[in-house]
Amino acid sequence: MGLALDVMSAAEREQIARELLTECKPARKAGKLSANCPFHSEGTPGNAFFYNPEEDYGYCFSCGQGGDLVSIFNAVTGRVPDDPEGFKEFVARYCKEGAEKLRGQISRREAQGWTPKKAELPPASWGDKALEFVVQANAELMNDEERLAQLLRWGITEGAVRELGIGWNDETTFRKFTHWGLPYEENDKGNERCIMLPRGFVFPGFRRGVPVRIHIRCEDPDMPDLPRYFQIMGSSNVLYLFGERKASVWVVVETVRDAMLLWQELSPLGVGSMAVGGVSVRPDTDAERILRSAEFIMVALDNDDAGARNSWHFEPWNERSRFSWCQRYAQASRWLVPAGIGKDAGDLPGAGVSVLDWFMAGVPAHIRRRLLRRQEEIRGGQNRG
Ligand SMILES: [Zn+2]
Repeated sequence: MGLALDVMSAAEREQIARELLTECKPARKAGKLSANCPFHSEGTPGNAFFYNPEEDYGYCFSCGQGGDLVSIFNAVTGRVPDDPEGFKEFVARYCKEGAEKLRGQISRREAQGWTPKKAELPPASWGDKALEFVVQANAELMNDEERLAQLLRWGITEGAVRELGIGWNDETTFRKFTHWGLPYEENDKGNERCIMLPRGFVFPGFRRGVPVRIHIRCEDPDMPDLPRYFQIMGSSNVLYLFGERKASVWVVVETVRDAMLLWQELSPLGVGSMAVGGVSVRPDTDAERILRSAEFIMVALDNDDAGARNSWHFEPWNERSRFSWCQRYAQASRWLVPAGIGKDAGDLPGAGVSVLDWFMAGVPAHIRRRLLRRQEEIRGGQNRG
C-alpha cells in the first residue's frame, strides 16, 4: 500500500508486523496474519484484525479501521494513522536498508504534490440494499418519540431527520456480503463474511439519490468495542456533502452528524457543509472541485491534536507531498469550537450556543455582511408570509 510496500520485502514486513502486533499468528487464509486489533481495544480479542504482508494492508472487521504497516506502527505508538512524525520514526527504525530508495520516493512525492483521488462509489447493488436499509431505519425513527427527542438534544430537528433520511436501527444485525452486493469473502472460520449493522442512529450520505456512505452512531451496550461512529462496510470514502453544489461558502467538519446539524442551520443562507467522516480522509475529486471554486472554507475539524495536524502541518521535509486543509486551499481558515464548550460543532447545542452565532463569528467580515443581508431577506419574507 504505502512506504513499506515500496522499500521492503514481504518477509521484512511480516517480521515487523509480528513485532508490533500482539497475539500475531498465521491466519487460516494463506499469507495473512491475524492479531489483536491495533486500532481499538477489544473486549473479546482475536478473529477480527488481519494483516496481509504481501499487499501491506491490514483491516479490522470489528471496528472497520485499517491501513498499511506505517499506520499500524502509528496506532501502536499512540498516533493518528498518517502522523508524519510516526512516518519519520518508522523510517529511522526499520528502513535503514531502503534509505536510499526512500529518499528517492520522498523527492518524487514532493515533485508530484498531493492530488485528489477520483470518487470510487460502491456497486449499484450495494446502493440498492443500503437504500432499503436507510428508508426502513428512517421510518422507524420517525415513529420513535424518544429517539427524536435524543436527536433534538443534539440540536437536530424532525425536519432534518425527514429531509436527510436519518434513521434508527434498533438491533445489531449481520448481513452476508453477497446479500449486499459485495464480492464473496470468507472469515477465518471458513464462513461468509458479514456486514455489521450496529444498533444506533443511521446517518446516510447520498450522491445522485443513492446512498454511497453510511455511518452509524453506535448505541449497543453489548458492543462496547465499536467506535462511536461506525462506517458500514462497502461505504465509499467520499466526503459527505450537504447543500447546493454551487454554494460559495462551505464548512468542513469530522462527523456526518455535525455536517447535518450545520446543513439544518446554515443551508437557508446558502452555506454548504461537508464531513470527512474520519479526520485523515481527504477530498475526492468531486469535493475538490467544489472547494476549489469556493469563496470561503471554514475548517472546523475537531478541537484536538489530530484536528490541528490535519488543518495545518509544519514539516518542511515533506512540505509539498502532504495534504492539509489550510495549505491546500488559500481561502480556508480553521475555526474552533471553544475548548470550554467542547471539541466539535455538535457540542454547541448542548451548551446553549447558537450554531449560527458560532459560525458567523468565524466568517470574514465582507462575507458575514452578505450572509446577514440574506438572513434579513429571509426573515422579511417570513414576516410578510
Ligand atoms: Zn479494530
